[in-house]
Amino acid sequence: MKKINFSKIFAPFYQDLAVDLGTANSLVYVKGKGIVIQEPSVVAINQKTGQILAIGREAKIMVGRTPGHILAIKPLVRGVISDFEVTEQMLRYFFEKTKKNSFSFLPAFPRVVIGIPCGTTEVERRAVERAARSAGAKEVYLIEEPIAAAIGAKLPIQEAKGIFIIDIGGGTSEVAVISLGGIVTFRSLKIAGDQFNHDIIQYLQQKYKLLIGERTAEEAKIAIGSAISTKEDLKATVRGRNLITGLPDEIIITSEDIKRSIEKSISQIIEAIKATIDETPPEILSDVMQEGIYLVGGGALLRNIDILIKNEVKMPVKIIDDPLTAVVRGGGIVIENLDKYREVLTKNLSEELS
Ligand code: ADP
Ligand code: MG
Repeated sequence: MKKINFSKIFAPFYQDLAVDLGTANSLVYVKGKGIVIQEPSVVAINQKTGQILAIGREAKIMVGRTPGHILAIKPLVRGVISDFEVTEQMLRYFFEKTKKNSFSFLPAFPRVVIGIPCGTTEVERRAVERAARSAGAKEVYLIEEPIAAAIGAKLPIQEAKGIFIIDIGGGTSEVAVISLGGIVTFRSLKIAGDQFNHDIIQYLQQKYKLLIGERTAEEAKIAIGSAISTKEDLKATVRGRNLITGLPDEIIITSEDIKRSIEKSISQIIEAIKATIDETPPEILSDVMQEGIYLVGGGALLRNIDILIKNEVKMPVKIIDDPLTAVVRGGGIVIENLDKYREVLTKNLSEELS
C-alpha cells in the first residue's frame, strides 16, 4: 500500500517559521507573512506553584518589581539556553501565538529555522533543537546568527567576497567574517547591551550616589546614550534611591555620563574587532575595506557607535537597516527559499542521528 505523505498534503497550510532566540529579544517570522512576534526573552514564574504568569513584554515590566515568590527569568544567557524548561515554554507560547487566526487544528510548524551564536557547542545546539521540537517544531534547521543577519541585510553571502559583521546584542557581541556562505573567523565576547546597563548603574552609584534599576538604566541608555562625546549633550531624568539618605531621589544625567559609564566596555568590543581584523585573510580584508563593516543588533542603535568604530579601525562602517530584526528577517528569507540556502544551515542534527 502506498504510504500517504501527510506533510505533502498539508504543506500549503503549514506555518514554517524562522526564530531569533536572543538573550534580550525573541522574534518569530511566519513564512508568507513576515515578522509576527518581537518580544523580550523574559518569563515571569510563580516559584511557589511553578506557574507561568507572563511571557515577553508583560514579564519584562515585572523585572525588578516582583515580590519574593515571583521570578522574572531570562532563560537565555549569552545567546545560549540556560534554563531549558522555561525556554521551551517560551517557544511554545510564541509558536501558539503564531497559530492564532489560522488553521489551528492542523499540526502547525513542521519546519523552523533558528539562529544560534557562532561558536556554540554541540550540546548547546542540541538543546536549542530539542527545545524547538518539544515546543512543536517537526524539522529544525540552525543557522549562525551573523550569516542570518547578512542574509537579512541582503548581502551576497554566498559569493567569494568577504563580509564583516558586528552584532551587538543583549548578552554578547559577536564579530564575524563571512565568505562563501561560511564563517571564516569570529570572536564572541560577553560584553554588550546588558553590560552597558550595568555600567550605567555602577557609574551613577559612584558619581551621584544614586542606585537605579536595570530598566531605568536601559531607558536612559536608549533615550540619551552615545558612544562618543557630542556637542548636543542630551539630558534625562532618572529616579532611584539616594545611597546616603536612603530616600528616593532623582537627578538629571547627560549623554556624557552614559558615554563615560560604558567606555571601558565599548573599548573591549573595539579590541575584539581589531583582533578579528588581525585574523582576517588579506584578500578578504581588501573586500571589507571597500565594502565596509556592517553593524547589527540592538547595540548598533547606540548613538555614534558607527562613528567610533570607524575612527578606531579606519574602515567604513554601516548600520544594517532595522538592526533589531535583521537576524529573523534573514531566517525568514532562508525559510522562504530553503533549497537555495540549505548549505548555509548547520547540519540538521537529528538527521545526523537517524
Ligand atoms: P539579543 O539578540 O541578544 O536578544 P538585541 O539585538 O535584541 O539582543 O539587542 C538588545 C540590546 O540592544 C539591549 O541591551 C538593548 O538595551 C539594546 N538596545 C536596543 N535599542 C537600543 C538603542 N536605541 N540604543 C542603545 N541600545 C539599544
Ligand atoms: Mg541577537
